[in-house]
Amino acid sequence: MKLTDYSEIISRCSQCSFCQEYCPSFQAMGTENFLAKHRMNLIREVLIDKTMPESDRFREILDKCLLCTNCTRNCFSLVPIDEIVIAARSEMLKNQKGLGALKRGFMSRVLSEKGLRSIAGMAGSLAGKVGIGKNMPQISSKPFDSIYKGTIKAEGEQRGRVAYYTGCGSNFLFPDVGASVVRVLTANGIEVVIPENITCCGLPLISEGDIDGAADMMRRNIEALSEVDAEAIVMDCTSCRMMFIKKAQKMFGKDDPIQEKIIQLLLKIKEPSAYMTEKGCAVQSKSATKKVTMHIPCHSDRSAEKNLVAMLKSSSAEYVAMDNPESCCGAGGTFYMNNSDMSEKLRKIKVDDIKATGADIIVTECPMCRFYIQLGLPDKKVMHPFEFMAGE
Ligand code: SF4
Ligand code: SF4
Repeated sequence: MKLTDYSEIISRCSQCSFCQEYCPSFQAMGTENFLAKHRMNLIREVLIDKTMPESDRFREILDKCLLCTNCTRNCFSLVPIDEIVIAARSEMLKNQKGLGALKRGFMSRVLSEKGLRSIAGMAGSLAGKVGIGKNMPQISSKPFDSIYKGTIKAEGEQRGRVAYYTGCGSNFLFPDVGASVVRVLTANGIEVVIPENITCCGLPLISEGDIDGAADMMRRNIEALSEVDAEAIVMDCTSCRMMFIKKAQKMFGKDDPIQEKIIQLLLKIKEPSAYMTEKGCAVQSKSATKKVTMHIPCHSDRSAEKNLVAMLKSSSAEYVAMDNPESCCGAGGTFYMNNSDMSEKLRKIKVDDIKATGADIIVTECPMCRFYIQLGLPDKKVMHPFEFMAGE
């Protein structure tokens, strides 16, 4: 994921603007400067050809990319815009001085130790001074991994055995999500193994341009998950799945022995409802009387929603689709902490679409989307689809 690896690929951007209608950065800022094509031109001129200086305006334009991957997903020329922005941020990290460098260096250091738990507990300290940890969700006093360990037996006849990779969201922020995933799986005859030694997927680090730090985390995860004897590895967070499925291989050299382990794991990684559908489990929700709608996180690969919607529809609650369920809610992981004007504009559009459905409950797979939408919709309940299915 070095910028030099992308110097030819950047040229594939034909400046067609097809990605424009999908870009939340453009939607919120309203000028072409914040479009993928402009970012690509600037990255080439400033960081590759070095015909322009690395100005504050250049940094602002790169920093205001939410790394949502919407342009990458919709680009006919297959330009991996988000990866190029990450590689550019990594390049800038080497050159940066002052507060920006302090922030990125700090993020790298604390996140590589304990993932989101570290920054969330640090608002007000150095983290607060460099703009990290503002408006973070509360860290649970009882993280999922302090309660669930080892193997959790299936109820009734055993139909399968999975490893559950618990991302920072389901571990530290919303451990009820992890508990719900385990409850729904085990109630349907699936034995669940909680792997030891797993850590953050690395997305918060890579977003800051710390590719090496994220790669260290990913290596530790791959090694830990490779040790587990399970037919599938379920992950309930869209961003964690994206990191493993789309980014892991690109973080390491082609000859690195970890690549073989990644290939083996890729065959096993599944969204939990997709796994359950494969096993023929008929999941029944206990939530009977509510109206529910679903927000689709930007990092979703759009393959899980069909199963999740089928699950929601199988309940006696009424499922109602919102307009533009895939539009960005503005959270962008930790993006909203330093870009509140932009994020609030995007959230307002999302909240209006949700209100128009009349739904009582909004489900979404991403913990940060969940948190950020809930802040904008205090009268409604926002939760993970598996919490809904577990009858929370
Ligand atoms: S990134 Fe892709 S879709 Fe967007 S302007 Fe470039 S070629 Fe077109
Ligand atoms: S990753 Fe998202 S915010 Fe960034 S340029 Fe692409 S569509 Fe826009």
